[in-house]
Amino acid sequence: MTDTGKKLISIVSPAYNEEVNIPLMIEEIKQVFAQKLPKYDFEYILVDDGSSDRTWQVIQEQSKDARIKGIRLSRNFGHQIAMTAGLDQAVGEAVIYCDSDLQHPPEIFSELVEKWEQGFDVVHTVRISTEDIGFVKKFFSDAFYKIINAFSDVRIEKGMADFKLLDKKVLSHLKKFREVNRFLRGIVPWLGFKATQIEYIARKRIHGRAGFSFRKSLVLAKTGILTFSLKPLKFIGYFGILLTITSAGLTLFSVSWFVIYYSWYFSPMVTLTLFNAFLIGIVLICLGIMSLYLSYIYSEVVNRPLYIVSESTNV
Ligand code: UDP
Ligand code: MG
Repeated sequence: MTDTGKKLISIVSPAYNEEVNIPLMIEEIKQVFAQKLPKYDFEYILVDDGSSDRTWQVIQEQSKDARIKGIRLSRNFGHQIAMTAGLDQAVGEAVIYCDSDLQHPPEIFSELVEKWEQGFDVVHTVRISTEDIGFVKKFFSDAFYKIINAFSDVRIEKGMADFKLLDKKVLSHLKKFREVNRFLRGIVPWLGFKATQIEYIARKRIHGRAGFSFRKSLVLAKTGILTFSLKPLKFIGYFGILLTITSAGLTLFSVSWFVIYYSWYFSPMVTLTLFNAFLIGIVLICLGIMSLYLSYIYSEVVNRPLYIVSESTNV
């Protein structure tokens, strides 16, 4: 609650060279709260992620309105870290995090809040229009979601970006995740809680350039896969076992045939190749064992919470 007796909603956005978009974004947020969410107050936390344009000056000018808050990172740390820096400062009853380039339309904030008031702790958004993204980006994006969902313990829907509403209790758990290589899109579903989703039509970027280069997208995809799917590591070992068993069987068969009939069933060359495959299989099994240790070390190192309690009674 704020001194006006209204519930406070925090909004958090990272900004990388968004000097033109920020005032427009703030204007839209003010309008949405005035028209659709009059029963709520908001704070808008903008994190300047080492911009090279006037982003920080613009945030400072805007912060004459006490609801606008700014944090400036010392250099470009990337969208995920910038978002985290902002989320760390949010004090509202709920937090909405989104981009600052107007692609995540503030007009649906009221729908997010409505779902939250209905009792959902996490409200995801799903982008239904992808007209803006090119063929290559779409191809890689589709492939990424297929791979991550095949290997991961949490389900990450296609079209779910870093645009969500979280209840403050969910945020308090999210803040415990201090992993350097972070993938918020995996962490938030991992947290659990009562979740729902709403659809929206993404807007085109009108001002400024996408700071998310193709390379940055690939890095993020790699982080997502490596931090949320340890199963590929186990496949190395399984493949090794399969290879060892089949090649050992075939080598034994070939050698036995020679011993019994004194002629080659497989040529000596093929027999040698099979034996070689057997040795490779052994190496893969060893690698698989090492990978298992690696995945255990990984889980200990990132130090995620063991479990998340959503409610309790009489304890
Ligand atoms: N962004 C950031 N740091 C970066 C790149 C981007 O904080 O290094 C911000 C950017 O200002 C925007 C959001 O992250 O608010 C999404 O970036 P962008 O629009 O470039 O990505 P896209 O919409 O193409 O996925
Ligand atoms: Mg964008």
